[in-house]
Amino acid sequence: MEQCKVYKKCGGCQLQNLTYEQQLQYKQRKLEGMLSGYAPVQPIVGMEEPTHYRNKVQAAFYWDYKHRRCAAGVFQSTTQKIVPVDSCMIEDVQCDRIVQTVRRLADSFKIKPYDMRYHTGVLRHVLVRRGFATGEIMVVLVTLSSQLPSRNHFVKALCREHPEITTVVQHINPYETNLILGEQSRVLYGKGTIEDVLCGCRFRISPASFYQVNPVQCERLYRAAIDAAQLTGSETLFDAYCGTGTIGIIAAEKAKQVIGVELNRDAVRDAVANARLNGVSNIRFQCGDAGEYLTALAQDGETPDVLLMDPPRAGATVKFLKAVCRLAPEKVVYISCNPVTLARDLDYLTQHSYRAETIRGFDMFPFTKHVETVVLMSRV
Ligand code: SAH
Repeated sequence: MEQCKVYKKCGGCQLQNLTYEQQLQYKQRKLEGMLSGYAPVQPIVGMEEPTHYRNKVQAAFYWDYKHRRCAAGVFQSTTQKIVPVDSCMIEDVQCDRIVQTVRRLADSFKIKPYDMRYHTGVLRHVLVRRGFATGEIMVVLVTLSSQLPSRNHFVKALCREHPEITTVVQHINPYETNLILGEQSRVLYGKGTIEDVLCGCRFRISPASFYQVNPVQCERLYRAAIDAAQLTGSETLFDAYCGTGTIGIIAAEKAKQVIGVELNRDAVRDAVANARLNGVSNIRFQCGDAGEYLTALAQDGETPDVLLMDPPRAGATVKFLKAVCRLAPEKVVYISCNPVTLARDLDYLTQHSYRAETIRGFDMFPFTKHVETVVLMSRV
């Protein structure tokens, strides 16, 4: 496989120097080293085509003084400097092309890229998301203020070059921050959201809500997590850290009822819309901190049968884990994107009446060091 020219500078793909087979072995050994004390680690699920899997691409703009033009790149993971990137082996090709068009159009419309040093300029970032199953594409233009000179002409030119774009949104981010999106937004074209299909269900995605970036592996991960729950149709299922409700909505036909909890307000709004979109009526969502919500449920004497949890990299809080033990579901299915916090949380749960049954890795992010894991736990 051809090596990426900027891989050392970019730092996004830490395993570039390994073949895909070696990458999988590396991840398998890593999981075994960290988790085999809890249960046997089954063979990691890899991809058949491990390139161009990312359905979400983001780029930062800056002024290239040497060539006197607007340039696009990614933040170097260590220094936060922008590294110029034209195309990337893990990103969707179509999304990459749109980023390049936005860059070129910014030059022809004389729209100034953001200047980090002085906190001036107009265009900061672009975020492109594509629904692999539906072909719908969202472009989010992130600007420093609400001003975007020749806004309408710019959007028209962009959509003329890429008729596949279904919506364009402007996000305003006035802060001196590395975060990409701001809080204020404005739809410039289309509905402001796109849809995608996962495991036979349709999902609406907003600019700011979480959506798995590798849909091929995501389907395998969700199926494995739902299979692990061994639902029969009579269970109450908790979907903690539910995002846009994906897992709970897919699992709902196999459960009596599902309750999802999620902190991000936009994601909860999407989750409610997604349940309706799929005609799923035995699910409801709560917006709030998962730990606090579960603690309140435990105080009310609720008794879920199965808890599915998919926390962010930081893992769960002790408050959350305590509440899990009080709620005492028969099964806990833990989906983790960080084996370090997973091991820490497994430590707690296995010391408090749970036993890990099976552990399996999923390679959601080929060429990077990241690995996703599904663990099934039972109450003892
Ligand atoms: N299960 C979903 C989302 C997983 S990502 C999916 O597969 O798509 C983790 C989610 O946890 C994010 O949506 C994030 O907004 C949410 N989150 C982060 N901290 C949280 C907290 N304290 N309480 C509830 N949800 C939280």
